[in-house]
Amino acid sequence: MNYDVEVAVIGAGPAGSACGITLQKAGITNILIDKSRFPRNKTCGGLLTEKTYRVLTKTLLTDPVDGSDLGGVFRDVSERLDLYYGGERLAGSKVAKKLRSVRRVTFDDYLVKKYRSIGGTLLEETTVESIDTESRTLALSGGGTVKYRRLVVADGALSPTRRTLGFETPELAFCTETYVPKADLDIEERVVIDFGFVKNGYVWVFPSGDDYCIGLGGKSKKDRRYDDLLKEYLASLGADPDKYKMRGAFLPFGKPVDQRKGPDFAVLAGDAAGFVDQVTGEGIYFALSSGVAAGLSAAEADFKKAYLEKVGPIAKAVKETDRFREKYLKNAPAALFRRVIGGRDAFTGFFCDNMISEMNYSYSNALEIYRGYKEGGK
Ligand SMILES: Cc1cc2nc3c(=O)[nH]c(=O)nc-3n(C[C@H](O)[C@H](O)[C@H](O)COP(=O)(O)OP(=O)(O)OC[C@H]3O[C@@H](n4cnc5c(N)ncnc54)[C@H](O)[C@@H]3O)c2cc1C
Repeated sequence: MNYDVEVAVIGAGPAGSACGITLQKAGITNILIDKSRFPRNKTCGGLLTEKTYRVLTKTLLTDPVDGSDLGGVFRDVSERLDLYYGGERLAGSKVAKKLRSVRRVTFDDYLVKKYRSIGGTLLEETTVESIDTESRTLALSGGGTVKYRRLVVADGALSPTRRTLGFETPELAFCTETYVPKADLDIEERVVIDFGFVKNGYVWVFPSGDDYCIGLGGKSKKDRRYDDLLKEYLASLGADPDKYKMRGAFLPFGKPVDQRKGPDFAVLAGDAAGFVDQVTGEGIYFALSSGVAAGLSAAEADFKKAYLEKVGPIAKAVKETDRFREKYLKNAPAALFRRVIGGRDAFTGFFCDNMISEMNYSYSNALEIYRGYKEGGK
């Protein structure tokens, strides 16, 4: 079948579906193309911060008929975060901003269903075979074409379309994760981050319904035995390390892609754009926000200029997290973690609420963050 639309969106993860929903609401013709059939899984910790929840419920799904739990997509809500170094607890606190968790198989399917419920067209199990940038036509696997005026590239961290269109490729980190039934572990239930098991990265434990999602990742070039490291960590919790299936995936790591270099009719959103918090690895917030921004920019005379203005604050924030990680976390020895974090329960709670759940202060100014803490946070 052949299509003729204003906007073609490649990839129907959070970035692509947020874009599609925004376009549908604005009455702009569009189509979503994804190589998978939904529901499909995506390797991801699935932790949603307060700012993500806000984008979802206040910007994207302004009329959720199924209430604030979005029809039960949230599997857990955590109100406590503990920080560790190599199994040694450094600090922990109750947090004011809730940390919700989802399974991506359900969450992404929920967004795609929303898109379809308002008339959107999703082509599943379909890839783009070629892109004619002169006639602005996509040739699809299985035959058929899409004529488009504007293109939103939202096909994830490895984004084959990004490469085809001549955009640069961001640096990538690798992450491995697994799900362990809560009944298998004798641990206190809360969100855990442990900086001591992987160099230039961290281990996470996220409560997720009947399970914990446990994973690790990092950018270290030397230390890539991630499955072994995760097994080591599981064993340290008293779990049988060989019992659980592990899945790995890439994550953009470093600065976002400089989008001025690609064609004017195409923009990158979500992981394809390298929009991931470099301190925490959070990407769903940026995927949803940039997807919405792409949808809102589609009616503007200068699509790309409008989009880059809208995502300017996101790109800036990502760059700041990158600098912060490079400066303070990358080569920090255990002693420094112990000195800076050890026993600082109140600071841990402040940091989670003000820097992870919200970006209330700039990562480029550590003094400002500390001053904010002294003043009680925002
Ligand atoms: C192990 C791990 C843990 C993470 N944990 C968290 C977390 O707890 N919280 C958080 O906020 N973020 C987390 N992230 C980051 C988060 O998963 C991503 O930032 C987010 O999925 C980005 O959404 P996206 O829509 O840009 O891309 P994706 O979710 O990757 O979606 C891309 C879509 O494009 C499709 N696609 C790919 N290639 C093609 C093609 N050639 N043609 C058509 N379609 C294609 C795919 O099928 C997919 O549906 C984690 C990432 C990893 C790897």
